Amino acid sequence: MLFDLPDHATLYRALLERDSRYDGQAFVCVTTTGIFCRLTCPARKPLAENCAFHDTIGACLEAGFRPCKRCHPMQAAAMSEPVIATLLDALEADPARN
Ligand SMILES: [Zn+2]
Repeated sequence: MLFDLPDHATLYRALLERDSRYDGQAFVCVTTTGIFCRLTCPARKPLAENCAFHDTIGACLEAGFRPCKRCHPMQAAAMSEPVIATLLDALEADPARN
């Protein structure tokens, strides 16, 4: 782990404020929708109790969440993590799995 996640309240505030300092460092999984987002996502913000924060996209995927179609968390990560780009290509090549 490269980054120690701050506590839930701090991350939730960052989410509400679309704090770009956490962009790429923390992701929010929305338990009511099954989708995960960058903290800077333009979508309407979920309630705090419906948010679970993870520091990697891998952790979000393992938890069973799918990337948001508005903020594209995986495309941002693909720049720095080639393995994510490969995974993303595989998903796009097989839309039935989306
Ligand atoms: Zn989003």
